[in-house]
Amino acid sequence: MPSDTPRRTRPIVASISAAALRHNYSALRAAAGMETLAVVKADAYGHGAALCAPELVAAGARWLGVTSVDEGIAVRHALRGAAADIPTHILVMCGLWQGEAGACLDHALTPVVWEPYQLHLLQAEGERRALPSGSVPVHVEIDTGMARQGVKPGAALHDLLTCLQTTPVLRVDGAMTHLASSECAADPQNTTQMDRFRQALEQVQRAGLRPAWVHAGNSASLDSGLMPHALPALAATLGTRPMTRTGVALYGYALPLESAAPHVEPHLRPVLTWTTRIVSLRDVAAGSTVGYNAAFVAPRPMRLALLPVGYADGFRRALSSSTHQPGGAVLIGGRRAPVVGRVSMDLTVVDVSDLPDAAIGDEAVLIGSQGAEHIGADEHARLANTSMYEVLCGISDRVPRVLS
Ligand SMILES: *Cc1c(COP(=O)(O)O)cnc(C)c1O
Repeated sequence: MPSDTPRRTRPIVASISAAALRHNYSALRAAAGMETLAVVKADAYGHGAALCAPELVAAGARWLGVTSVDEGIAVRHALRGAAADIPTHILVMCGLWQGEAGACLDHALTPVVWEPYQLHLLQAEGERRALPSGSVPVHVEIDTGMARQGVKPGAALHDLLTCLQTTPVLRVDGAMTHLASSECAADPQNTTQMDRFRQALEQVQRAGLRPAWVHAGNSASLDSGLMPHALPALAATLGTRPMTRTGVALYGYALPLESAAPHVEPHLRPVLTWTTRIVSLRDVAAGSTVGYNAAFVAPRPMRLALLPVGYADGFRRALSSSTHQPGGAVLIGGRRAPVVGRVSMDLTVVDVSDLPDAAIGDEAVLIGSQGAEHIGADEHARLANTSMYEVLCGISDRVPRVLS
């Protein structure tokens, strides 16, 4: 019977290890020694937020961080099944915009705020619904040196605190800041930012507000030991609870830290394995050109395998090779098979000359382990001159994510 239901039969998949994700959350939570918000923004760094959020909640996360109200709604929806009975907070980390206050309340999202207009949007919606005072939680972001979002301590914070007196529906449930250089543990910017954060929190306290949570940090600040010390001490002086936030480490990646000092390095496991399969094989003679612009000329007779993956899937074009310049590789039969010629939009050719048994249908690992070999997102990042963050969240929607 013909069916219009879209099916995902192309041999390519990103499999997401629930066990690794749960393990990583538990290890990071233990290393932090405090409440740890799990960041699932950008579709859980390309891992699929709908798959990851319930696993993280099952592993103990009570706070999840998203970028936008749209993402928050999707995550709330994903929690409706198994995780429905566990009260979970969803922090909308990049604020809210016109037309979003209603959805924020409908889906019990906690927005980060720092602009007076954001307070007014929420207050207006709260009044429309006749909500009691203090019933809409918000987290105020303090700009301690990142200069992207957040209110600066001093006059601007004073104005925002004054504005809060005119928006009684709101409750300041949290105060937060974001560190700019946490991967460099010795960078003086960290202490400067934490000092400014403390001053801002004292200013908040003098205004008579007592946020339940103060939070800062990211994966690198946890690894470098920055957070486990500074934040609980700060929270204790204010009688509030400390929380840290972790993103990329949840997915098994640690940043290269610029610190000689011993640091906490919880054993993390990569969560994502991206695979495809050989769909065609051919032998080419020495001197044959391969791929667009004939960038690669076979220096000897070669056996080439075709993979149904390209840059439209997020397999970076920077992994291309030419006759003169090596590129990236994939893993086939437990060995590295180098990329031959240009990675194109939908197809990539790899060299399997050293793998005489390679056959149509064999698995090719794009990111992940096979046998003793491993290719991480950091390897793609190095070749593409970017960060592993960009590689991971650049794996496109055309690649199905499947929980394993
Ligand atoms: C993305 C983000 C994090 C997590 O950063 P990682 O480096 O991935 O751990 C933490 N806090 C905020 C505000 C963020 O936007």
